[in-house]
Amino acid sequence: MSEPVPQSDRARDLHARLKEFMRERVEPAQARIQEWDASHERRWQVPPVIEELKRDARGAGLWNLFLPDATHGAGLSNLEYAPLAETMGRVLFAPEVFNCSAPDTGNMEVLHLFGTAAQQERWLAPLLEGRIRSGFAMTEPDVASSDATNVAMRLRREGDEYVLDGRKWWTTGAADPRCAVLIVMGVSEPEADRHHRQSMLLVPMDAPGLRVVRPLKVFGYDDAPNGHVELAFDGVRVPASNLIGDAGSGFAIAQARLGPGRIHHCMRLVGLAQRALEAMVQRAGTREAFGRPLGGHGMAQEAIARSRCEIDQARLLTLHAAAELDRQGNRGARDLIGMIKIVAPEMACRVIDRAIQLHGGAGLSQDHFLAHAYAAARALRLADGPDEVHLAALARSMLKQARDHD
Ligand SMILES: Cc1cc2nc3c(=O)[nH]c(=O)nc-3n(C[C@H](O)[C@H](O)[C@H](O)COP(=O)(O)OP(=O)(O)OC[C@H]3O[C@@H](n4cnc5c(N)ncnc54)[C@H](O)[C@@H]3O)c2cc1C
Repeated sequence: MSEPVPQSDRARDLHARLKEFMRERVEPAQARIQEWDASHERRWQVPPVIEELKRDARGAGLWNLFLPDATHGAGLSNLEYAPLAETMGRVLFAPEVFNCSAPDTGNMEVLHLFGTAAQQERWLAPLLEGRIRSGFAMTEPDVASSDATNVAMRLRREGDEYVLDGRKWWTTGAADPRCAVLIVMGVSEPEADRHHRQSMLLVPMDAPGLRVVRPLKVFGYDDAPNGHVELAFDGVRVPASNLIGDAGSGFAIAQARLGPGRIHHCMRLVGLAQRALEAMVQRAGTREAFGRPLGGHGMAQEAIARSRCEIDQARLLTLHAAAELDRQGNRGARDLIGMIKIVAPEMACRVIDRAIQLHGGAGLSQDHFLAHAYAAARALRLADGPDEVHLAALARSMLKQARDHD
């Protein structure tokens, strides 16, 4: 397929090499990962094939492709990165192979932009090398966390330390044995206005008083060994030097972190939906029902054609948002990032659902990637902000623009 937006030679070359690596190395590894996942004893350990693939991807120069900074990352613009992320998104575990997976990417961006030299040396350097992993703990079970100003965990200052008590949940990646650090968002300045109460703190996973309570499941998928977990903080103490940025800047840092992170999720979802469509086409051409191939039935044709239209629409909107993010930064591109965060997960859910339907019972089984893909896409209608929050923010922004225009 031709490029919907012309890319630079460098991005084109990286993409060609990435596609080859996916075809030659990542796709064949899926069976080994699935076999590992099926073993109850080993599934919370890291499959050795992941570390092998990481080593080889790094050796091939396919590493930290998400980071626009050329010293630490590949130096690609968001527009250049979009097709690469789409290709990685085809296989759920693939982004990690290229050190481009959430939540590490967002955490690396935060440390890169706001971390002190000491924080960067201790945490950013090993993250960039893929030696450790990390989590981002904002959501809490007891408050509506889609409104980040509700986040209630207290970060109490005592001398040169902060003391943390409370619960977090849905912290992605914190069950991974390689997860060494969390970025925790909580209230350090309770007297300040609602956008300046929160701060972000680096909390080592081995801090006394920090405990994984349980892994959570999305429709039965626990995404081992990374997991999405509930965490208990009982009198956890960290040095005050673990604060990221200024006290009270947590809300602003969260906004900066979520801009590129959201758009990366959408790029990957376009890839996942594209793979589902390809599976649909393949199935429709090879299986017969009622005297003709499935693809000969009008309703199957409609499912295929609609899916193609919707994927291409979402891809173009993603590229538009990426270009705007490059041009205007997070703030200027806020509406478009919100729009694609509304559009891409819904689109992916619809397309994957149609692909499941066309595969019959097989589509729901562990023999296909589709059921897990659906769970992942459905979760993204909530993670990084539920649809309704983005819809409300978009509408408010349009109403404000209209008012300002008058
Ligand atoms: C797989 C997965 C991974 C995740 N990973 C992380 C992670 O790594 N770190 C982290 O901190 N969090 C993570 N989350 C949590 C996620 O970001 C939250 O679930 C999400 O922000 C919603 O917060 P909540 O669950 O508290 O829902 P609530 O805030 O209670 O909202 C519930 C519902 O209320 C409705 N609603 C809310 N606001 C509005 C509005 N303005 N208008 C209309 N309706 C509204 C929406 O339908 C919303 O879904 C993850 C979630 C999932 C499912």
